[in-house]
Amino acid sequence: MRKVVKFGGSSLADAGQFKKVADIIRSDPSRMYVVPSAPGKRFPADTKVTDMLIRAYDLAVAGGDVGKQLDLIRARYDAIVEGLGMNYDLDGEFEEIARVLREDPALDYTASRGEYLNGKIMSSYLGLPFIDAYDVIFFNEEGNLNSYKTEKVMAQRLAQTERAVIPGFYGQGKDGKVKTFSRGGSDITGSIVAGAAKADAYENWTDVSGFLVADPRIIRNPVAIHTITYRELRELSYMGASVLHEDAIFPVRSKGIPINIRNTNRPDDEGTWIVESTARKAKYTITGIAGKKGFCAVLISKSMMNSEIGFGRKVLQAFEENHISFEHMPSGIDTMTIVVHESEFIDKEQRVVSTIHRLSQPDSIEIESGLALIAVVGRGMRATRGTAARIFSALAHARVNIRMIDQGSSELNIIIGVANEDFETAIRAIYAIFVDTQL
Ligand code: ASP
Repeated sequence: MRKVVKFGGSSLADAGQFKKVADIIRSDPSRMYVVPSAPGKRFPADTKVTDMLIRAYDLAVAGGDVGKQLDLIRARYDAIVEGLGMNYDLDGEFEEIARVLREDPALDYTASRGEYLNGKIMSSYLGLPFIDAYDVIFFNEEGNLNSYKTEKVMAQRLAQTERAVIPGFYGQGKDGKVKTFSRGGSDITGSIVAGAAKADAYENWTDVSGFLVADPRIIRNPVAIHTITYRELRELSYMGASVLHEDAIFPVRSKGIPINIRNTNRPDDEGTWIVESTARKAKYTITGIAGKKGFCAVLISKSMMNSEIGFGRKVLQAFEENHISFEHMPSGIDTMTIVVHESEFIDKEQRVVSTIHRLSQPDSIEIESGLALIAVVGRGMRATRGTAARIFSALAHARVNIRMIDQGSSELNIIIGVANEDFETAIRAIYAIFVDTQL
């Protein structure tokens, strides 16, 4: 058994959290490779070390007081090192960061130091070898991960050591400079290490006990999801459920390695398993509910549209020409609706309307704004009758008007459009009908 364990910023925010992490690692000898994030928030109003570093870079570029800012960052690490009772000298590391910021400031390098330093401290605290992510993760010219080279070099390096600490979030750019993933990217590093190590599981430790069926800001104490498939997760993350970086799925997915989301503060909770496929029946018909506000629907009507070959293509071309990606496209016999993000669309709406007219000569175009989309996702829906009916009756009872419905052909999800103001009520009504009534 071989596991890769990634710890998020809140799991490493201070010495107390570091100790919990060490206990977790020591309690299971199969936890061989450790991927740390940078220290995160210790309390809600706190600042993540990554954000403090980015501020140091901004100050360096603007000619501000970098020294003071670096002292604040240093204080975070000193408190961790002291709290752990370690004797670890950070002078050299901070001198080097200060030198780079003075001579040739680089944003990615600066931002990456949070993970780098945490990795160094953790490797010394746990007595495990340190592997610099710079030597084993590579980006291509376009700035994307070079998976081929990364996997090859990483696998070779891991083959030389049974156990190691590898900091998250960064690697080496094509130009030889440090390059980071997008924010939250340590999740991706963990996934890459798990893939290269051919691990049996990728444990992603954070501050929640896995994915919840619905957003806890809307539903009080929602139940946790025990098992979710990659595809279900993709649907939910796309609609705003965020625990894991979206790009963290790919490196493990192609190898069939399950991801286990765990809670550092409640290590006995089993958390959520993210798997390729499962025979496990979800406890409820639905696996999760997620949603977002701020969409617009563009309703295009043309009589006899159904028999006009190429109509849909021309309409979509109008969006493409204006560089707008569409989210959904429910259609009727003589109507076609294109759902887009209001923020992307609003400044270009009249241009899009005229392009649609020019390309496809519709009878009319109507734009509706203030739309929220809710995705009800569940692999169990395929085998269950009446799911849609239950959703609709729940919404009718809650006096929510449904403005759009779209069921993907996979029968994995039903998307419902409601007015922005009905968003929370709708989610509560759906949660109640599927989860609460069965408790
Ligand atoms: N420290 C980085 C961030 O705050 C990366 C991560 O935590 O995954 O975005």
